[in-house]
Amino acid sequence: MGDSASVTEILLDLIAIPSVSSASNRAMIDYARQWLTPNRWAIRTFPYADPNGIEKINLVAVPRRFLQHGLPDEASASPAGDSVAKRSQEADVPIVELALVCHTDTVPYPDDWPEAVHPKVMNGRVYGRGACDVKGFLACILAAVADPEVSEQSLAVVLTADEEIGCVGAKRLLGEKRFHARNAVVGEPTQLHPVVAGKGYALGEIVVRGKAAHSAFPQAGRSAILDAATLIDSIRNIGLRAATERHERFDPPFTTVNIGTISGGTAKNVVPAECRFLVEWRPVPGQNERWIADLIGEELARAQGEDPGLQATFQPIRIDAGFETDPQSKLVGELEGLSGNAAMAVAFGTEAPYLKKLGAETVVFGPGDMKTAHSVEENVPVEELERCVEILKGLAYSLAKNDK
Ligand SMILES: [Zn+2]
Repeated sequence: MGDSASVTEILLDLIAIPSVSSASNRAMIDYARQWLTPNRWAIRTFPYADPNGIEKINLVAVPRRFLQHGLPDEASASPAGDSVAKRSQEADVPIVELALVCHTDTVPYPDDWPEAVHPKVMNGRVYGRGACDVKGFLACILAAVADPEVSEQSLAVVLTADEEIGCVGAKRLLGEKRFHARNAVVGEPTQLHPVVAGKGYALGEIVVRGKAAHSAFPQAGRSAILDAATLIDSIRNIGLRAATERHERFDPPFTTVNIGTISGGTAKNVVPAECRFLVEWRPVPGQNERWIADLIGEELARAQGEDPGLQATFQPIRIDAGFETDPQSKLVGELEGLSGNAAMAVAFGTEAPYLKKLGAETVVFGPGDMKTAHSVEENVPVEELERCVEILKGLAYSLAKNDK
């Protein structure tokens, strides 16, 4: 590799590094570091162990030149003593104009798709796991920051772990306030459309308990599946109610509710003692992201009030809000101008809400089409990759110009 490598070559390298969320992302971080030349970039990594004890790493890189203006520079700290390391850990975080944010993990791929990590270029597109979600955007970042002029602007490269399993890395990084950005571009495949609004993502499990009995004597038991059916019908009504609260930026223009999995029962001739199912909802921004959870809780309480024998619990697993950015902001205007594409909204969840919480104007942006992501057809057009590199450079010059 070298400065002359094309964005496509970088992407082929990245896809060849397996990085499903269950494994460590260290190899991805190590690869990315090679493009952040040490004499130009100060790099901080924030490792943590996931619940399975696997090492995951978040990375924040800021141009060294920018850090010289009175900001801490961890890389210059001697690794000699704990005290030095501690001090640098606690030092004030840099505030940058523009953060380029990208996750490093991918969803799993099937065994019978060997090309998942042996990418190929075909008909002007790169195919492989992560091609568009979201190694394509990462390749664009790395190609852009290899440009010495880009590495003199007020920007940060932020790479996160565990996005596909709930934005775990981003939550950690932002919770610990490791950096501040006035504007952020979060990479996801949007076909180079600036995305200024996204739905959130929420999930909870309902467990219904009945009493097992021989099915010839159902009165001796209580069917958890029939109780679940009653609750599921109520949740269908909650979904219909949610559809009346409209947010016209989205398609469909409301919070959607889905029961994605259900399991229960042990045999055809046994009254089932347990049934559990997952309820997922995607809240539109501006609406309380807990609203559906609250409605389900109320419904459970009502049903149990009417039938004290009903035993069911509802456990939220994850509740992430959506996000919405002012379409009149400078970030959106610049990206619309550079890409030639109008701002839009998307229905999938991203890391954007966490950046929004930091106060950053946030746009989701990147090459490729999310419709191919998470499938064996995952791909990204080379032409979009190349345009994206130029757009990121243009954005760095216009938005993050370091005038100091
Ligand atoms: Zn993604």
